[in-house]
Amino acid sequence: ESLKKPVCKDPSHYQPLKKEDNGTWSLKDSPGGLASALLGIKDFEVVYIGWAGLSKPKNVDDLNALTSAFASKKCVPVFIEEEIKDKYYDGYCNSILWPLFHYLGIPQEDRLDTIQSQFEAYETANKFFAEVVIENYKAGDIVWCHDYHLMFLPEYLKKHNSEMKVGWFLHTSFPSSEVYMILPHRTDLLYAVLHADLVGFQTYDYARHFVSACNRILGLEGTPEGVDDCGKLTRVAAFPVGIDPDRFIKRIALPEVQKRIDCLISELSGRKVLLGVDRLDMIKGIPQKLLAFEKFLEDNAKLCDKVVLMQIAVPTRTEVPEYKKLASQVHEIVGRINGRFGTLTKFPIHHLDRSLDFAELCALYAITDVALVTSLRDGMNLVSYEFVACQELKKGVLILSEFAGAAQSLGAGAILVNPWNITEVASSIKKALDMSNETRETQHQRNFNHVKTHTSQHWAEVFISKMNDTAVKAHLSK
Ligand code: UDP
Repeated sequence: ESLKKPVCKDPSHYQPLKKEDNGTWSLKDSPGGLASALLGIKDFEVVYIGWAGLSKPKNVDDLNALTSAFASKKCVPVFIEEEIKDKYYDGYCNSILWPLFHYLGIPQEDRLDTIQSQFEAYETANKFFAEVVIENYKAGDIVWCHDYHLMFLPEYLKKHNSEMKVGWFLHTSFPSSEVYMILPHRTDLLYAVLHADLVGFQTYDYARHFVSACNRILGLEGTPEGVDDCGKLTRVAAFPVGIDPDRFIKRIALPEVQKRIDCLISELSGRKVLLGVDRLDMIKGIPQKLLAFEKFLEDNAKLCDKVVLMQIAVPTRTEVPEYKKLASQVHEIVGRINGRFGTLTKFPIHHLDRSLDFAELCALYAITDVALVTSLRDGMNLVSYEFVACQELKKGVLILSEFAGAAQSLGAGAILVNPWNITEVASSIKKALDMSNETRETQHQRNFNHVKTHTSQHWAEVFISKMNDTAVKAHLSK
């Protein structure tokens, strides 16, 4: 069997942190579900190719030091100059594709001429990735392209070498064709992705939306296997991602984490813990969650000092204007609720604008009574998986948005909500706090079994095995 060599998305799952005095570089993990999913892939021989997080260092010693820091993590960096990066990453990727794929439309500030220059930067950046992949490719490798940042990559790679096995996987949702059709470059991007041998999505619905967009926009026929372009078939299927649950379970068992758990429990002095862990992103429905919590406090005055909402809001895409606006909006709501319902010694919301280290995060997951995931749209949402993995003892309740991909896998063991319906979310919080031990145990066990079996390793195995089948079938049909 050939080597399996997934290509990481941008940014790489490690980002340079800082240059040490001795000239070496230390790396930090990127926050986000994609990085977590890739961390869980173990049994493949892999080289990750990803954005380095900065432009190419001019000094050769710096360049070599950084490249070898990445090499020690099996990563090959792609360097992108600042100007292209702004238009590509903050611009086309995160101001256009990201909101559109999550049903938020295209922000009005982005006039068409700006979109055009951002789109050109998107093409250029995808070419940089293609060059690095081609330099590192060996015959027989599988090239697995990740996410909406790299929609042109399958086309550039296949045009260079039609024998290359190329897969593309989208970690976000793919919208209904009615929404996708808004995109000015809708045709080029669909054709580019269709160069891949296999195109994967988190859920069956997103795959169906993609096939229907190809049908309505390109006039191509959808078949049960994928999309047919005059006899050339691109396979399209759902491959729901997972996590590496043992990474969490093992960490919780360590004395260091047990100590943090004990400290947290004693500091909370018996209050029930509601938890939100999200990047500070419009799609996560953080304002909606806060408003629902406010409604819950209004409706349950006696519980005001008996519950606390811990909201970890990890900063993300801080250069994009919409994200700045969201941060102020969230701070204003948190301030208002704490002002209304706080006492001299207790506040109902602990809001943190920062990420947590892994041990801290595990401890927090483990002591939580109710996890609140209120995404307005979310490709999967791995926070819900991680919470379940950490709840073997506590068997807490998951309140989960029906608009997260995870609703299709963990929905049966969760309280599903429409995050736009503030009253429904507020009453679900009460329901979760009142749930009997027996029901909590049954719900938890159902979700725990799913998280234990549908791991990120399993996800990668299924995708890679389908890639191999696809290659065999394509060979036989020649
Ligand atoms: N996470 C993190 N640092 C934190 C809090 C969370 O790296 O301080 C991770 C979390 O463990 C999870 C990921 O960020 O793996 C979020 O993934 P999810 O799929 O829920 O959403 P995404 O951020 O990819 O949209």
